[in-house]
Amino acid sequence: MNSTNQHPFALPFPIQDNSLLIGGMTISQLANRVGQTPFYAYDRRLVSERVALLRSSLPKDIHLHFAVKSNPMPALVQHLAGLVDGFDVASTGELKTVLDTTMPPDKISFAGPGKTERELCQAAAAGIVVNVESEREIDLLAKIGFDMGIKPKVAVRINPDFELKSSGMKMGGGPKQFGIDAEIVPDLLVRMGALELDFYGFHIFSGSQNLRADSIIEAQEKTFDLARRMAAYAPGPIRLLNLGGGFGIPYFPGEHTLDLSRVAERLACLVFDARKEFPGAEFVVELGRYIVGEAGVYVCRVIDRKVSRGHVFLVADGGLHHHLSASGNFGQVIRKNYPVLVGNRVIVEETESASVVGPLCTPLDLLADKMLLGHARIGDFIAVLQSGAYGYTASPRDFLSHPQPVEILV
Ligand SMILES: *Cc1c(COP(=O)(O)O)cnc(C)c1O
Repeated sequence: MNSTNQHPFALPFPIQDNSLLIGGMTISQLANRVGQTPFYAYDRRLVSERVALLRSSLPKDIHLHFAVKSNPMPALVQHLAGLVDGFDVASTGELKTVLDTTMPPDKISFAGPGKTERELCQAAAAGIVVNVESEREIDLLAKIGFDMGIKPKVAVRINPDFELKSSGMKMGGGPKQFGIDAEIVPDLLVRMGALELDFYGFHIFSGSQNLRADSIIEAQEKTFDLARRMAAYAPGPIRLLNLGGGFGIPYFPGEHTLDLSRVAERLACLVFDARKEFPGAEFVVELGRYIVGEAGVYVCRVIDRKVSRGHVFLVADGGLHHHLSASGNFGQVIRKNYPVLVGNRVIVEETESASVVGPLCTPLDLLADKMLLGHARIGDFIAVLQSGAYGYTASPRDFLSHPQPVEILV
């Protein structure tokens, strides 16, 4: 019996000697190579395969961007630089990482509310596209451009007048700190015509972590619609239309993989139609977790095994402080288990119900709650799958001052 059996999706890693094989190495080989647990391991081959799947499924003229905030590890970003068409960054820290790659600046965009004058200066000087999220950013960029004697590249991030249904995280529609409300964009576009800005187009992102092809399709239809309505006021031709993304991956029992071919099929029709109205425009989808989420695993080691009033606790050397999302404290309303298994006992005859907890002095430090796992002993490895996105950098690693995890790309 495979102990991820409560999660109805296939293991992304092969098995050898009853261990997960990550980048061709068993977990115990990897742990020896790293020299410690806990660690995050990202499998280069799985990342490349995922990009290849997207390339072969999505229409040929869709440009694929990587949302760096999902995993900004420099080695991984370098690897992706040769595979994707562009990067979307959300800070100047991420900007530094992507400027260290070979990605051309005009294929890099910078989104996020609250960009400071200094950040806008850096972006303008780098020659990347700034997705402006307020009138203030537009005016500041125009001033910066004037001072530098350049025309900063801008795209307007629009807060759409629709919401992405059944998305894990809504990032557009209704009142939001992201983007500029669609209602006021036409006037703003007209005003931008008088400013010394290099207008690229629009960025419309409605939400994240969606597993339903139908709602992604609906959002994309509405996105093209909105872009059409706004384009009438644009100060120049639309050269860039960032359609967002939102492609989700399954994390929890009962979730299934996204039907990518359905999304792709419909997107092909939308792009075909939109070509006529937006000749020469780059259509972009920006994906984070869909590209890297399934390629990563978080590995920690069982330090203690305790039975408390009949319940088994596997106490590990890692937990919430390294992997906040798996602990259920990063955006989950009702806590559910990530796919967790004993990484060196993948196929097991018998399972037991056990909870995997970390070393922190809080009951929130829980990596698996009453899960059916192989019988783990002290020294065994706990593997948390689906950990390639929003793991290492999305966790409060200083909380309680335990040792830091290591990240490797294999
Ligand atoms: C976070 C974010 C993404 C990536 O979301 P994923 O769910 O990781 O694909 C894409 N675009 C923008 C604007 C974002 O803020």
